[in-house]
Amino acid sequence: MLHMVSEVPPKKITVDSDVFAPDFREEPYWWSAAPLSAAAGPQTVSGKVDVAIVGGGITGLVAALHLARGGADVIVLDSQEIGEGAARRNAGFVGRTLKRSVSWLAAKHGTEHAVRVYRELDEALAGLGSFIEREKIDCHFKVCGRFIAANSKAHFDALIAELDDTRREVGFEYSVVEKHQVHTELASDRYHGGAVIPDLGSLHPGLYHAGLARKVLDEGVRFAPSTKVLSIDSNRVGKVVKTSRGDLVASHVIVATNGYTSRAFDWLMRRVIPFRGFIVATEILPATMIDRVMPRRRTYLDTKMNIDFLRPAPDSSRILFGGMTGTNSPQATPLAEQLRDRLVQILPDLDGVRLSRAWTGQCAGTFDFMPHIGVKEGVHFALGYNFAGLPLGTHFGEKLAARILQKGDQTSVFDVERFPTMPLYNGSPWFVPLAMRYFDWHDGRIARG
Ligand SMILES: Cc1cc2nc3c(=O)[nH]c(=O)nc-3n(C[C@H](O)[C@H](O)[C@H](O)COP(=O)(O)OP(=O)(O)OC[C@H]3O[C@@H](n4cnc5c(N)ncnc54)[C@H](O)[C@@H]3O)c2cc1C
Repeated sequence: MLHMVSEVPPKKITVDSDVFAPDFREEPYWWSAAPLSAAAGPQTVSGKVDVAIVGGGITGLVAALHLARGGADVIVLDSQEIGEGAARRNAGFVGRTLKRSVSWLAAKHGTEHAVRVYRELDEALAGLGSFIEREKIDCHFKVCGRFIAANSKAHFDALIAELDDTRREVGFEYSVVEKHQVHTELASDRYHGGAVIPDLGSLHPGLYHAGLARKVLDEGVRFAPSTKVLSIDSNRVGKVVKTSRGDLVASHVIVATNGYTSRAFDWLMRRVIPFRGFIVATEILPATMIDRVMPRRRTYLDTKMNIDFLRPAPDSSRILFGGMTGTNSPQATPLAEQLRDRLVQILPDLDGVRLSRAWTGQCAGTFDFMPHIGVKEGVHFALGYNFAGLPLGTHFGEKLAARILQKGDQTSVFDVERFPTMPLYNGSPWFVPLAMRYFDWHDGRIARG
């Protein structure tokens, strides 16, 4: 049974009403349509289960769904509410995002490997669309296309060269948008052209995760929110999962903690780099304004390493904008004004717009910029999505279930022996702000040619 968690009172913002709309609060925009709901979980955690899943995000819930349908007795443990991680905080872009290009991978690991990586990303993208359709999850999923805006002429040339390589090797289509055509996509004078990738999409992450949670509960899976997993040890009967609310024994354990991976999983923690993303939502705008500034209602991002990204809300007349990734701030509100100003620099028509929401969430990078799925000491894991967890979390969730059930396609090109870390790295990402500064310098250098 689901019950609502009482809403956090709006954070009082009195200082600058030019920036904050009267209904402003620090909370993901998505939670208005998909409030965090807590399953009436067990008071204590005990007994024996077939599968214990740590993390109730996308990966964890997709795995839970397939496992339960395969006949397994499953419990999902989360230290927060189910879905309170990045699952209901992300931007809802549905793509094939990877920081490593086809040509980079081909040069380093050979063309065959590069093609397999991009084919699997494509499989994950297509798989998400068909999963949503098959499960009838009403989450505004749409193949809206993505406009990638070039920050300079040099960025434009590099973008088109990369998209050409990708089309040649794996057949992904795109169309060029010349500088003088940018206004057909975005009412901005900031960009030097760009490209449209027509088969990428968007969704409402709150409704996607909430729909998924309902399906999982319908299959008899138990949710244990506010239950932090402290350790996992093996003994003769299985894996002993110690939690903040008791211990249980599981035949199999999945760790699906992505950007929230903690000390309990030391080996993984030393391999993922948690970093924060920040998003703001504008107040309600006239619908004609959205049509003017983003006439094709796609998703939009730029070519910088440290991207700015924007999209229309799928269920109201607002624009969502994200940037300043990796800034060391536990809240988004202190960055809200800067984010608003960056949005207005891109879309000057929005001058004077105020914000109704700001929020942050944790993503996970990896030292090789690749997502990873695998098994360590008998514990299954999938994480390190580098901003692409909607398709990959869904894809890996299904793979994890297939591996435990020993049926279906269990293979993945991302299942490699090597999951690199860095000497002395203990999970505390002190270098992320420095890396972001380096990326800014690097982008500037490309822009200057
Ligand atoms: C601001 C932002 C924007 C993003 N935009 C996009 C986007 O547009 N498109 C896209 O594809 N991806 C995007 N992402 C990334 C995407 O949201 C994540 O990759 C995805 O949610 C990861 O899903 P997950 O299920 O693996 O992890 P999460 O949804 O993060 O869930 C992990 C869960 O593990 C729990 N946990 C951690 N440790 C423990 C423990 N010891 N015991 C119990 N529970 C534990 C946490 O409480 C958390 O709920 C974005 C992320 C952020 C933060």
